[in-house]
Amino acid sequence: MEKKIIVCKFGGSSVKKEGIEQNIKQIVEENQNRRIIVVSAPGKAQKKDKKVTDLLISAFLEQNKFDFWMNEVQSVFEDLIFRLKVDFDVECEIRKIKRHFRLFKSKSYLFSRGEYLSAKIFAKYLDAKFVDAAKLIKFYSNGKINPKTYDKIRKLGKRGERVVIPGFYGSTIFGKIKVMSRGGSDITGAICARALTNSVYENWTDVDGFFEDNESAIVIEKMNYDDMKFLSFFGSSVVHSKCANICEESKTILKNTFNRSAMGTTICKNVDSVSFGHATRSCVEFCLQNTKQNQKIIKKLKGEILFRQVVLGKLFIGIVFSKGYSSERNEKKLQKAAFCVRNVDVDAYILQKSNQIQAIKKKHEHAHIILNDGNRWVFVEEKV
Ligand code: ASP
Repeated sequence: MEKKIIVCKFGGSSVKKEGIEQNIKQIVEENQNRRIIVVSAPGKAQKKDKKVTDLLISAFLEQNKFDFWMNEVQSVFEDLIFRLKVDFDVECEIRKIKRHFRLFKSKSYLFSRGEYLSAKIFAKYLDAKFVDAAKLIKFYSNGKINPKTYDKIRKLGKRGERVVIPGFYGSTIFGKIKVMSRGGSDITGAICARALTNSVYENWTDVDGFFEDNESAIVIEKMNYDDMKFLSFFGSSVVHSKCANICEESKTILKNTFNRSAMGTTICKNVDSVSFGHATRSCVEFCLQNTKQNQKIIKKLKGEILFRQVVLGKLFIGIVFSKGYSSERNEKKLQKAAFCVRNVDVDAYILQKSNQIQAIKKKHEHAHIILNDGNRWVFVEEKV
């Protein structure tokens, strides 16, 4: 029987907040099976902070202030290096990134550099091998995961050493960097867990797990993947909603980097549903009909409705096609609008007719599809 491998993913706050100096090393080293380590770019330690990925997005959007934003990125990493006491020439790395970006102007390349630098630094700190996600996570140009990815990860698992992998990006078969949607490091972890049989996926964040509701501090100890998907998509920002479909054969455990003794939330198959579905569903409907932001965008897009939902800080973009499934023109409009709001790919398609499902699935394998028949919101299962 293959040895159990634990995939550990450390999120943006886990690699930024005070206390990581000891915590991450202790967590990783106290269990030899913790061998695949996925890291995010530094996120927010405090409300006023800007995530490194947001700094990189600003550098792209405001190229007249490119050097300013890149200096900001550099100083976040200088602070990290200082705290982790590793020897790493970040100035030289930033210089290389700037040069590469000026030459090739690749947006995805730039956005992915937070995770790249983070993983290089953490590999040094953990005395582990750095493996570039561009060589491991392979996408087809339409965004589907190339199955070669799973073979590559399996091979890596067999080597027996501890590795650190940057989350959030991979590359096409032609070697072009491709980023996932925001919070995508969770997806990288889920892909690794899926590739390795008998694996456990530990997702280390800065909260004790999924809470029963916003006000109470009661952590849900166990839930199934459907629940996780629903909670993640319609509210909680603890874990990326797309993970559920990827790693449902493994056990996922949400843990708190800063409170290791807390039980966390375990997500696995064959657990009874937690009863929160209804409340979150009506919340979405409410958001669509009543926010000012929605009204503005609805007016702008006439026949189609693009809406943003901000619940617990999670931004959700979808579209309702009023007549039949999308023309190319509608598609382009949606992509453009989604990019303006979030700088990422489209996450979800809201449809009114089930006969449109197959067409969307074919084109956008990883997007969520939600059916709204006027009264109800129904998640349409999609398989990875
Ligand atoms: N750094 C990326 C983001 O801010 C991905 C991640 O944190 O998982 O969205």
